[in-house]
Amino acid sequence: MFETENKNTLSTYKLGLEYALEQDRNDELKSYRNQFHIPKDAGGNELIYMTGNSLGLQPKATKSYINQELEDWANLGVEGHLEAKNPWLPYHEFLTESMAKVVGAKPIEVIVMNTLTANLHFMMVSFYQPTKTRYKILIESDAFPSDKYAVESQLRHHGIDDKEGLILWKPRKGEELLNYEDLEAILETHGDEIALIMIGGVNYYTGQFFDLKRITKLGHQYGCKVGFDCAHGAGNVALNLHDSGADFAVWCTYKYLNSGPGSLAGCFVHERHAYNKNLNRFTGWWSHNKQTRFNMRDEFDQLPGAEGWQLSNPPILSMAAIKASLDMFNEVGIEKLIEKSKKLTVYFEFLLNQLGENVISIITPKNPKERGCQLSIQVKNANKTLHNKLTEAGVISDWREPDVIRCAPTPLYNSFEDVYGLVEKLKAILNE
Ligand SMILES: *Cc1c(COP(=O)(O)O)cnc(C)c1O
Repeated sequence: MFETENKNTLSTYKLGLEYALEQDRNDELKSYRNQFHIPKDAGGNELIYMTGNSLGLQPKATKSYINQELEDWANLGVEGHLEAKNPWLPYHEFLTESMAKVVGAKPIEVIVMNTLTANLHFMMVSFYQPTKTRYKILIESDAFPSDKYAVESQLRHHGIDDKEGLILWKPRKGEELLNYEDLEAILETHGDEIALIMIGGVNYYTGQFFDLKRITKLGHQYGCKVGFDCAHGAGNVALNLHDSGADFAVWCTYKYLNSGPGSLAGCFVHERHAYNKNLNRFTGWWSHNKQTRFNMRDEFDQLPGAEGWQLSNPPILSMAAIKASLDMFNEVGIEKLIEKSKKLTVYFEFLLNQLGENVISIITPKNPKERGCQLSIQVKNANKTLHNKLTEAGVISDWREPDVIRCAPTPLYNSFEDVYGLVEKLKAILNE
């Protein structure tokens, strides 16, 4: 048994549907579920949606936010840049403050732009500056494939062999989670060869939420730049990006931030780099001083802060979907969300534990401070048939070969009843 600050210990939970329903009745955030479209089966019954870590559900308000921009475009044409209800020219600024709160940063450190992997590359243009002796990149061995491909291609771009230049932080034999002592040992040996440490803030597979501050401090001590991919962290855990001291971070908005498939991504650049005009970067007209941007002839004049990494005028329809979501996050507050999230996931863990250790094991850390809402469940002797049966039973979850189901009960729209229903269905299938 472990201790948590808000007494979400496993022993405070009870079995049975009635208990789940009671938790839902007492849930301060219960009204938010109603503000989302919950996918239904052919018979019109709501599905148990556990994949907010892959694609968040659509807020009912999103349509009207997008319609507003369609209408302004229809009625105003190009004048909408200045005359729209939410003028398009500064539209990204309407997102900055709420997004900064979600990731624990200062507004000057945050920008919504591009897509996630693109932002990762743009950040590496600035923060991966290899020299003859310091040229390696350290990532976690189970990094999200896109991140690994991006990092390898950056190595090749600089003429470095992508095997020789890549250092992997691996779990110990027979384990799934990463260990800080092992990272310290890598840095002790290779610290002066490593130009960049780039870690997934919450690992997509295990759900392990890393101590960003600890990793950053360690990396900086050895002279490395440190960045995080927070795709599985933003809207899910308290990232405190500013305090972490990280040089940069990137994340998408279509997972926990419910902004629609392929929507724009977020980017954080620490305040200490805000006014550094010597930092190498790729630029476009949107990186240029807003006051003189449209003079079109000026010498380049760098915008300070994260905004200065923008290239293009952004897709407003997608930004409208992000605004719909962030307005909701702003109203609830990330602290309240995380509080409910912890309750929901500890309850989930409590129910799963009843299935027995010889049937399942949870590979996600047991300490709620070291994870978000996701639990990655390893099922003994399972194959994809199990996942297919769960889908047939009305559960949308995520299967990772060879034997792991990832489920992410999100605090905005998932209920205790969802979690109860999921475990009951899993139990029924396992007992077949
Ligand atoms: C979801 C995810 C991606 C996806 O990248 P896109 O550029 O948005 O397609 C990349 N990295 C991580 C860690 C992710 O979780």
